[in-house]
Amino acid sequence: MLAAPVRWPRPSRLAGSLELLTAKATDGMAALGIETIGDLLEHLPRDHREARLVAHLREDEQATVAVQVRSIASRQVRKRGMRGLVEASVFDESGSIRVTFFNQPWLASRYPPGTRLVLHGKADRGGRFRVSHHAIGSEVATGESGSVAHYPAADGVSSTQILALVRERRHGLAEVIESLSARVRVAERLPARATALGAMHFHGPGARAEQARERLAFEELLLSQLVFQMRRRQRAARGRAQALREPPSSSARWLEHGLPFELTGDQRKAIATISTDLEAEQPMQRLLMGEVGSGKTVVALYAMLRAVEHGAQAALMAPTETLAQQHFATVQRLLGGESATVALLTGSTGAARRADTLGKLASGELSLLVGTHALIEPSVRFRELAVAVVDEQHRFGVRQRAALEDREDGLRPHVLHMTATPIPRTLALARYGDLDRSVLRELPRERKPIDTVVVTGERGREDAYRVLHEQLRAGRQAYVVCPLVEDGDRDTPAQARDVSIRVDEPEQGRGAPRHERVGGDETPGVPAPGREQADPGGVAGEAKAATAEFERLRTGELAGWSLALLHGQMRPREKQEAMEAFASGRAQVLVATTVIEVGVDVANATVMLVENAERFGISQLHQLRGRVGRGEHSSTCLLVGPGGSTRLRALAEHSDGFELAEIDLRLRKEGELVGTRQSGVGQFKFAILSEDGELLERARMRARAILAEDPELDGPLHWLLGAELERVFGAEVLQPIPA
Ligand code: ADP
Ligand code: MG
Repeated sequence: MLAAPVRWPRPSRLAGSLELLTAKATDGMAALGIETIGDLLEHLPRDHREARLVAHLREDEQATVAVQVRSIASRQVRKRGMRGLVEASVFDESGSIRVTFFNQPWLASRYPPGTRLVLHGKADRGGRFRVSHHAIGSEVATGESGSVAHYPAADGVSSTQILALVRERRHGLAEVIESLSARVRVAERLPARATALGAMHFHGPGARAEQARERLAFEELLLSQLVFQMRRRQRAARGRAQALREPPSSSARWLEHGLPFELTGDQRKAIATISTDLEAEQPMQRLLMGEVGSGKTVVALYAMLRAVEHGAQAALMAPTETLAQQHFATVQRLLGGESATVALLTGSTGAARRADTLGKLASGELSLLVGTHALIEPSVRFRELAVAVVDEQHRFGVRQRAALEDREDGLRPHVLHMTATPIPRTLALARYGDLDRSVLRELPRERKPIDTVVVTGERGREDAYRVLHEQLRAGRQAYVVCPLVEDGDRDTPAQARDVSIRVDEPEQGRGAPRHERVGGDETPGVPAPGREQADPGGVAGEAKAATAEFERLRTGELAGWSLALLHGQMRPREKQEAMEAFASGRAQVLVATTVIEVGVDVANATVMLVENAERFGISQLHQLRGRVGRGEHSSTCLLVGPGGSTRLRALAEHSDGFELAEIDLRLRKEGELVGTRQSGVGQFKFAILSEDGELLERARMRARAILAEDPELDGPLHWLLGAELERVFGAEVLQPIPA
């Protein structure tokens, strides 16, 4: 035994750079994020395509073959601009074929007879194979199932070339570090990391590849669960909160007598849970989920009043000016006779008023503050902030949320995060870890169902405008929502709308991180759910689209009605005027961008028409339509888009936001790809959340067990795991960031 050769991995070898033949290939690899041998081995195939036997090549079909060169020669061609042709005879076990390479005369000497090659190209009518990508394939060129791995590629480096490089460097797998201890691997029945990577590269689809994927998925889920659990512990250690234990007085009175409606069961339940949270010294970190109109504000206000009746203060932070104003109005209205003092603080609050508000806040004279990011500016000092509510929490960066929690006296506020984007449990667990959650599923009783229709074609549009007119004539109001539209779409209204349609399913583009649009954003810079349109140029583009539609409708289909325009590029004053015009009924139609997604509450609005609806995500459309159906009348949502769209159909068929969130998760699964880099906690390249619920549960329990034994991951069994955590996410990942 002792004499047996022991081999230790030498990870330094993986750090070695790839020696590539051309500068172009080096650039291409860099674009894929591949610089070292280790990077290369972690660059996994997107899928496997069947390698053809030469005898089975079909005319005019793209295919890959693994062959050996029998003879090869270059030939002059007398066409201008052509640099000569290389012709070769190649063979595999099924037969031989003549192949041609264009414009690369040097290949004749690079690929002498006997060379093994992987060729990608097309057989032409004459039985010749025209090569588009080629690479040297050492040893066996294809996977055991006879398939060829297909890699995400870039300019300058093709999938076939990457395949050849991986084969050349496959011995590097022996140096791959195993971050899971043998004990964990045995208990979870998972292959070693190197084995899993090898299977991903060299086996076609099948049980072994699936097992390999699970192994890699388990590891990434485990890493993220470790991060969440470690953060949670650090957060708990960072400071105590004021325990709000006085028996409810004014808050109870307010709940019983101050509200113009009965609470729903879900609201009561959430309030009871939050009451209990607030009694603890452990700061509350709760996520309150409930779709638009489910009545989150009442619940939040209760928590805030609990702070006030203890002589402390509370704040409510919203992501936009509009929403902050809306909350301010709601809070004032809901407070009714309560004596709590409340102020609004936003970017457009005047200097004098601002100074006055800050003074009263510092003295404690002011007990409730509603506002935007303006609340977390350093000059804003609370005397005693006990409860902080963050609305639409995913729209804030983690640092911004953290800023609200910093208090000079060392005490930390209880925090209630609110979101109108329902997230399935699996996703919440993967994204936020074990965050406490309360859910408002039940909508307040009076809410009317929204009849949702997918509108397709010119006929459909005519019908849609007929519905709009009927509602307007009956005294109701309407929204028309416009997404960003590329130039040109608008000019030929009739057809362009159907032609310009984007593919419904997520794009199979290379390099797109998986799941990038699902759930909240742990990582700053990652698009928040349903906000696909919110790219930097998008706001201007949306504004332009809405303005154009406004002009068009005013003189076209909606001539004679009074229209108002609302988009993100208008000044706050103009926005407010537009909203007031619509809220008061002076304007019957509001033509808007997605800025109306939050903050507009007009009970008399009963119809919404969404242009190019397929450009929005499911959750965003669901939020949008929540703007109607708020009053006593039944409402309609008209989604203009392709009739075949799975997403639009889902919206027409389901009204429950949670169900839609599950569907969204399932749909997004398609088109996801392996082999791109991970970019944040809760972002996965291997895990498929709609399927890996059980794996996630296992990873979560395993993370608990590991941390119970070794909280800092510095024991001999786990330090490699700790190192991997840092390697993947960077050292600062363990900072105690709030939910
Ligand atoms: P959310 O913030 O979840 O979208 P809000 O808290 O703004 O919803 O409530 C939407 C509207 O419903 C408000 O006008 C609110 O006063 C009203 N509301 C809240 N709870 C109830 C209830 N239980 N019954 C009737 N109306 C309610
Ligand atoms: Mg709200």
